[in-house]
Amino acid sequence: MKALVYDAAGKTQHWNDVPDPTILRSTDVIVKMAATTICGTDLHIVKGDMPEVADGRILGHEGIGIVAQVGDGVKELRVGDRVALSCVSSCGRCEYCRQGLYSHCLDAEGARGVGWIFGYMINGTLAEYVRVPFAENSVYKLPSTVSDAEGILLSDALPTGFEIGVQAGQPKPGDVIAVIGAGPVGLSVVMTSRLYGPSKIISIDLDDNRLKLARDFGATDTVNSGDADWFDQVMALTSGDGVDVAVEAVGIPVTFTNATRIVRPGGHVANVGVHGRPVEFALNELWIKNITVTMGLVNTSSIPMLLKVVASHGLPVDKFVTHTFSFDQVEQAFDVFQHAAQYNALKVLIH
Ligand code: NAD
Ligand code: ZN
Repeated sequence: MKALVYDAAGKTQHWNDVPDPTILRSTDVIVKMAATTICGTDLHIVKGDMPEVADGRILGHEGIGIVAQVGDGVKELRVGDRVALSCVSSCGRCEYCRQGLYSHCLDAEGARGVGWIFGYMINGTLAEYVRVPFAENSVYKLPSTVSDAEGILLSDALPTGFEIGVQAGQPKPGDVIAVIGAGPVGLSVVMTSRLYGPSKIISIDLDDNRLKLARDFGATDTVNSGDADWFDQVMALTSGDGVDVAVEAVGIPVTFTNATRIVRPGGHVANVGVHGRPVEFALNELWIKNITVTMGLVNTSSIPMLLKVVASHGLPVDKFVTHTFSFDQVEQAFDVFQHAAQYNALKVLIH
């Protein structure tokens, strides 16, 4: 088969011939990929930010496909089932899985205790075929009414924004929510926070094109944080106290600090971004604000719930896909995604 293979020495990736995957454990299935996509995390890997990723690793952790082969222990899936793959592979049985903490599955292959392994510890989804460990707990059957462009968001971006941004941030009806970062994850926060009936959703980014998009995704207001008075603009949109929920969806120190600056006393700061370095946390000023700060790796335990909402067309998730490619154009797709601002790209769908 062909797959997008990471070249550690060249810090690049190539669509190469590789051996087909085979069933290694009775709980595995093999999925023939129908659609896949690229995530900001894949860009981190090819930049060399994650040296733990082995040379020759097949990249990717999102996708939709058709079950092509099932292990002896798989009872609930059949050859021919159309499924969405979770970016997290989890056994569903260990102590953490039983708490819904799939992201820390104790039986995960590779790095014990971290459930995100596709395209990281094991071969991933930017391939014609994929071996899926613990398949019964790690794939979700898709109804035919859900298109590839809708279903592809369920693997990672949508549950990440919903679980780590919205559920952790605990918005209530009527709240003002601010979302810093308007990439696929931040826009997933914007879109799914509408389910809680906020009075305002303020999208904050440096890129005016992304802010324009944010309005299509449900933001009621936008603020460019490159503006000298961006903080006053946010305050003017609240009672003056600050926002009820501030979500960080960028992953750099300044945006986390900004989230703690704009939250009202008693509010929530939900950090979604993956940070590469320590962040200064002004505990001396913040202790008196009675705020709650949360963070985490997505569990994808909300996929069944989000799937129901997507299947009933309650969220226009197909808006995320801005570019479509075929599998043999995957290197071009990578280039477009790597230069997202230049191409006005949000999510690339690879068929
Ligand atoms: P992205 O790079 O596509 O989007 C980031 C956005 O932040 C861009 O629109 C950019 O213009 C904006 N931005 C950059 N600097 C800014 C600044 N100073 N102020 C305001 N906006 C700024 O990323 P994404 O795919 O949407 O992912 C967002 C973050 O979520 C990343 O850090 C990613 O690694 C992380 N993530 C976390 C999890 C998890 O489980 N916690 C899962 C997936 C992704
Ligand atoms: Zn991802």
